[in-house]
Amino acid sequence: MADTTGVVIDPRYAAHDTGAGHPERPERIEALLPLLEASRGPMVPVHPRPATGEELALVHDGAYVAEVAATAAERPWYAFDADTPTCPQSYFTACLAAGGLLALLDAVMQGKVRNGFALVRPPGHHAERQRAMGFCLFNNIAVGAEYLRRRYGLERILIVDWDVHHGNGTQHMFEADPGVLFVSTHQYPFYPGTGALDEVGRRDGEGYTVNLAFPAGFGDAEYREAFTHIITPIAQQYAPQFVLISAGFDAHARDPLGGMAVTASGFGAMAHALLGVAQGSAAGRCAAILEGGYDLMAIRDSAQRVLDELAGNAAAIPDVPQPSRAGALIERIKKVQGRYWKV
Ligand SMILES: [Zn+2]
Repeated sequence: MADTTGVVIDPRYAAHDTGAGHPERPERIEALLPLLEASRGPMVPVHPRPATGEELALVHDGAYVAEVAATAAERPWYAFDADTPTCPQSYFTACLAAGGLLALLDAVMQGKVRNGFALVRPPGHHAERQRAMGFCLFNNIAVGAEYLRRRYGLERILIVDWDVHHGNGTQHMFEADPGVLFVSTHQYPFYPGTGALDEVGRRDGEGYTVNLAFPAGFGDAEYREAFTHIITPIAQQYAPQFVLISAGFDAHARDPLGGMAVTASGFGAMAHALLGVAQGSAAGRCAAILEGGYDLMAIRDSAQRVLDELAGNAAAIPDVPQPSRAGALIERIKKVQGRYWKV
């Protein structure tokens, strides 16, 4: 039904085995499985399908897709880098992750659900056109954005990436392309090293990359100020026809990798702001996909809050006036982005 929220989750996402001690582990999906079972209200499962090689090649080199495919049989247990190992099930799982988002996008575009959340692994936003990195094999959200353009003819896609790490792969795939506005909040300097304020896109895409590089320690108040003064105004001016969210939860205060202090309700507030943008120009069309997040309780609570927002079940966001330390940084970002947008 068109007033429901689609949820993609599947026990097969646990089959990608990263080895003992790796933070991007199968338990991340196992911890999220109860969310759909427990949910009342307007949430429905959307069944994932594997993305095809042709769909992955919308944003990846065909030779690179073949290289990942080879880990299923000819090259078992191959590690693309120290962070990005594979097992014989990794290729299929990665195809199912990208395809899970595509199934959700189809459900939204065909009016079967209003919006949704793809709770998948492995994550995707670090994957480059021809390179795996940072736990990521295929760039799920980039495949999704390109799919919306090719399959449905959309011309303006907004991607907001609030993972604590910069979405280097997504930025690089679209930085010369005004058809995708890429906005990222991330800890900086930090892995993977990209995402400085002055990375604003290039050629025809200049002005369509917005980097909010944050020092460690920012929390709900600073993120809220950034959404109010930078992200929401720019997104509204762009008037996207679809809103995609790279929803990592490793900016959560309890995350063992990130150095930020966001809470589950902080992520809910970000989703709320982006749903407002989607309502304004995209007929409410919005899909989130899980990226990072390595504390199981933090990702479960945060995913729940975002799902509650998507489904319209959320309690009102408490408007606690908190002092924000972001003021001076917001002014610097306004100077950079003011060349392209009214901020
Ligand atoms: Zn991350």
